[in-house]
Amino acid sequence: MIKVCKFGGTSMSDGTNIRRVRDILSLDAARRYVVASAPGKRYSGDSKVTDLLYEALDEVREGGHVGEAYAKVCERFRGIVRELDLSLDIDSMLEETAHAIEAEGTYDFAASRGEYLIGRIAAAFLGIPFIDARDTVKFDASGKLDGERTYALLREALKGKRKAVVAGFYGEDAEGRVKTFSRGGSDVTGAIVARAAGADLYENWTDVSGFLACDPRIVADPVGIKALSYRELRELSYMGANVLHSEAIFPVREADIPIQIKNTFRPQDEGTRILPVSKYVPSGRPVTGIAGKKHFTVIYLEKSLMNAELGFALRILEVLRRHNISFEHMPSGIDTLSFVIDSAELKYGVLDRVREEIVQAVSPDKIAVFDDVALIAVVGHGMNRQVGIAARLFQAIARVGVNVRMIDEGSSELNIIVGVNSEDYECTVRAVYEEFFKEEMPH
Ligand code: ASP
Repeated sequence: MIKVCKFGGTSMSDGTNIRRVRDILSLDAARRYVVASAPGKRYSGDSKVTDLLYEALDEVREGGHVGEAYAKVCERFRGIVRELDLSLDIDSMLEETAHAIEAEGTYDFAASRGEYLIGRIAAAFLGIPFIDARDTVKFDASGKLDGERTYALLREALKGKRKAVVAGFYGEDAEGRVKTFSRGGSDVTGAIVARAAGADLYENWTDVSGFLACDPRIVADPVGIKALSYRELRELSYMGANVLHSEAIFPVREADIPIQIKNTFRPQDEGTRILPVSKYVPSGRPVTGIAGKKHFTVIYLEKSLMNAELGFALRILEVLRRHNISFEHMPSGIDTLSFVIDSAELKYGVLDRVREEIVQAVSPDKIAVFDDVALIAVVGHGMNRQVGIAARLFQAIARVGVNVRMIDEGSSELNIIVGVNSEDYECTVRAVYEEFFKEEMPH
């Protein structure tokens, strides 16, 4: 039995927590490979080492040398080494790292040093080998993970090692430079290592006890989700349930390796298990979870006989592509078509140009733009082939007097996406939660 354990930034934030990590590992001999994130916040208002490292490079770019931000990074690592009672020459490592950050001069390299340094420290503390992700995690010329090379190199590096620590978050690009995944990317490294090791389970240790049925900032004390399918997870994490990086499922899904989300600070809690659909036993509820995001823009078009006009959508998509804009959803009617776009893609007057070019391209009878739309995803395999779920959903929303601006139901009936004004977001989520989970609402 092999388990790969990824520990997040809070779990690695100081010596006391790293001791907790060691205790967790020592409880189960199958926990053989560890993937570590850079030290995160110790308390609210504290800085994450990764953020300090981005700042450190800003300082290099301004003044030629690392400065105050890097001094804070040094303080964090020296403190951890001291707390763990390690006889590691951390001063030389930090000095070397400073020179390397100045010489390499990229944000990716600077940021990666948090995982590199904590990986080396954790390996020394646990008395097991360290594997540098630069030697083992490879990206191709287009910036995508080179899976074939990566799995082969990792398998080789793990061979003969009963245990090891692998640095999370980064790898090496086709030109030999360090490249990171997007933020929170150690989750992705954990999944890659689990796949390469042929693990039976990918344990993702964080600071919450798994996924909740909705955002606890909106509904107090929502129920926890004990089991999710990979597909439900993808829908929920893409729509803002950010317990796990939304790309972390791909490597494990291909190899059918389940993921278990666990809380380093409450290891007794069950957490959430994520499984392939074939092994997943639904909870019996139609809805598994609710997630959502604000700040979308909807471009709405009307044109009589649009359905008969060949290439109508294509011409609009060409406009979007010219401006490098990707869209999230494209709900359509016989004579209507809408594009839902993340508002962040439409900054600096781009929207006006896009609108004009769409008018030129397809001469619609009507074009309207709604900004500040929030999307709410109601997700669950239990909705499939069940009559009346959509009716319950829309009745619940109507009861709180919210106007639905857009509806998109995936053809797999795994999710229904509802667009409302951003200001109605919270009360809509509450109403939907109450409808599908109310029997478990605290009284
Ligand atoms: N340290 C990186 C970040 O803060 C990666 C990670 O923690 O997964 O985004």
